[in-house]
Amino acid sequence: MYRGRFAPSPTGPLHAGSLVAALASWLDARAHGGQWLVRIEDVDTPRCVPGADHTILQQLAACGLHPDAPPEWQSQRGARYQQALDQLVSAELAYPCACSRKDIEQALAARGDGKPRHGELVYPGTCRPERGGLHGKPGRAWRLRTDTAIFKSNWPIARIDAAPTAPETIAPESTTLHWTDRRLGPQSQDVAQAVGDFVLKRADGLWAYQLAVVVDDAAQGISHVVRGEDLADNTARQIGLQRALGLPTPHYLHTPLVLGPNGEKLSKQNGAQALDTSHPLDTLNRAVHTLGLPPQTGAVAEALARWTAHWLRSRLTTWA
Ligand code: GLU
Repeated sequence: MYRGRFAPSPTGPLHAGSLVAALASWLDARAHGGQWLVRIEDVDTPRCVPGADHTILQQLAACGLHPDAPPEWQSQRGARYQQALDQLVSAELAYPCACSRKDIEQALAARGDGKPRHGELVYPGTCRPERGGLHGKPGRAWRLRTDTAIFKSNWPIARIDAAPTAPETIAPESTTLHWTDRRLGPQSQDVAQAVGDFVLKRADGLWAYQLAVVVDDAAQGISHVVRGEDLADNTARQIGLQRALGLPTPHYLHTPLVLGPNGEKLSKQNGAQALDTSHPLDTLNRAVHTLGLPPQTGAVAEALARWTAHWLRSRLTTWA
């Protein structure tokens, strides 16, 4: 059973870039005769804008993109995230961390290794239990160990639809996690080296995106994740977390990004305008251009049906 989703963070209204991800996930679900769900990812409450969730749902509806079940809000699902964290702690895969950003910077500098990656510091494992744990300090955040076999390529991938897939395995001693993106092809990441033990629950008490997205994709039975390419870098972490929780791995497709005037990914920070849905067909025609589909005329529902018919033949999903 195909089940897909669009999972916007309500940090503002949809813009041209987020519509591409929404439309691609909708088209992929429809082309597979599957279901399409919407999940509002409002765990990072300081970044959420009041009312943006309802604006996003209205914008989707104006473009003819209607979910097959009522939307869910992550802010309502803390108990599920806590259960998952408890499970990881009992399995000794998660541990509390007392480090502030400054502590991490100092520990990295002491190793002569202070380079931030995308502005994020690679956690040096200071509070791992075998290194003495919290050293008497209060725990702030919870982290997942990335030095275990689940982050290695030879761990078997259990697919949600149990369809026979080529085993994504390389050398048994490999420390990198391999996965295949339906558009980008084979991908790999050494999570321990590139990211380090990553945060599941933040020092401010908020649930981290990685944990919430993995728990919810599984709880909602998501078989196919279609989202923007800027999120591709999170996938190895999410697959590791799925394995740690005994959850199946969905298929992934990361869609092309719409670039802003400065050549960077279009985002609210670089001036993306809220999507104007007063002429939905024009708006959709601009979005399908990024997906390599031809423009359509006529009614929105008919245009969507024609794009759905094109979708699986489009060159976007070469590795499907
Ligand atoms: N909420 C995330 C975002 O808006 C997307 C999460 C996902 O699709 O996995 O960037």
